[in-house]
Amino acid sequence: MSLQERDKKHLWHPLKQHQLNPDSLAIIKAKGCILTDEDGNEYIDAIASWYTCMYGHCNDYIIEATHKQMQQLDHVMFSDFTHEPAIKLSEKLIKILPKNQSKIYFNDNGSTAVEAAIKMALQYYFNKGEKRSTFIAFENGFHGDTFGAMSVSGLSVYNGPFEDFLINVLRIPTPNGANHQDIISLLEQYISDFKIAGFIYEPLIQGAAGMKIHNSNGLHTILKYCKSKNVLTIADEVMTGFGKTGKNFASDYIDTKPDIICLSKALTAGLLPMAITSCTQDIYQGFLSNEMSKGFFHCHTYSANPVACATAIAGIELLTSKEIQTNIERIIQAHKKFEKHIKNHPKVNSTRHLGVIFALDIDTKMERYGDLRDKLLKFFMDRGVFLRPLGNTIYIQVPYVISDTELQKVYQVIEHALDII
Ligand SMILES: *Cc1c(COP(=O)(O)O)cnc(C)c1O
Repeated sequence: MSLQERDKKHLWHPLKQHQLNPDSLAIIKAKGCILTDEDGNEYIDAIASWYTCMYGHCNDYIIEATHKQMQQLDHVMFSDFTHEPAIKLSEKLIKILPKNQSKIYFNDNGSTAVEAAIKMALQYYFNKGEKRSTFIAFENGFHGDTFGAMSVSGLSVYNGPFEDFLINVLRIPTPNGANHQDIISLLEQYISDFKIAGFIYEPLIQGAAGMKIHNSNGLHTILKYCKSKNVLTIADEVMTGFGKTGKNFASDYIDTKPDIICLSKALTAGLLPMAITSCTQDIYQGFLSNEMSKGFFHCHTYSANPVACATAIAGIELLTSKEIQTNIERIIQAHKKFEKHIKNHPKVNSTRHLGVIFALDIDTKMERYGDLRDKLLKFFMDRGVFLRPLGNTIYIQVPYVISDTELQKVYQVIEHALDII
């Protein structure tokens, strides 16, 4: 029996309606940018497996560092002990994070990194004797699937059953260059009418919304206003972090730095799950007290797993290497050329790119999980490229190590699809 058949007996997949779509393709290996299925077919992974495997699948350098750590220390309780991989990772991260970041808190995935950020902001004010219970977030944002993260997410199509249980969130539009003053007026009203703990945002690019890019000056204005009103700012860099925007972090493009930053996905390069919530010294100091209960009692069993820390360290070493930085620049230039070529295609409504992220909207309506989307996905797969349309957006987020030939093939199948839609 094939893996695909055996899968159906006991497995329940995320983001899937099994009755409509029972099959899952079985992948048996991955190397660099290539995924291989159980029949030996190969696919270029043009979205780096949910934006994680940015240094290529099964990267030898990362595997070796991880393997070495596995033989030295597997796991130890981070509430009671510390270890070199966590220390070294904190030192390496603080060096590349925005200058105001000072403390590193470990979590297991992007959602819990956001969950911890939300709890940090609430307790920061609680510890000061202030009850602030509301957050501000962008419309159409995505921050994860746990209750706090779901609450601040604006993409709520799948939140129906849980809506009665979410925390208070007010929404503002993303800045597009023309609406800055309206957004500030809305913020002013929210901040005067409600007790706002924080503003959470995906900086510059809203990933799940369809790689939607907003205006950096506008974001800067919003952040500056929040700071002036003591509203904590939380940058969710789970998707944008680690080089994808052309800088190490999207926050590097903006002068006003966030109080809290959420990291995951490319942090551990697709090899192991881990996440981090970093914060300023001021936030950290809000939890220092002679009272035990003012500490931060949010903990996961696998916090700061030494093996995952070793993986993350190797990832950062690659990110900051000349080779990867050169690759990022090469992909940016290729995207620019492709954008120039494709933007006048009759089926293309609009194009955009930032760093290694490229997206185009087609002029045909496509539901998020509808028929056309499935057909398009199959069209790409039949031609050896894994691309995953989001609504009527087709986007590319390739591993940094992709070859020019592979990248050209990705562009070609997209153009081919546009020609025959
Ligand atoms: C993926 C993502 C999350 C959630 O991360 P998980 O690891 O899937 O829980 C949160 N925020 C953003 C911006 C993301 O892209």
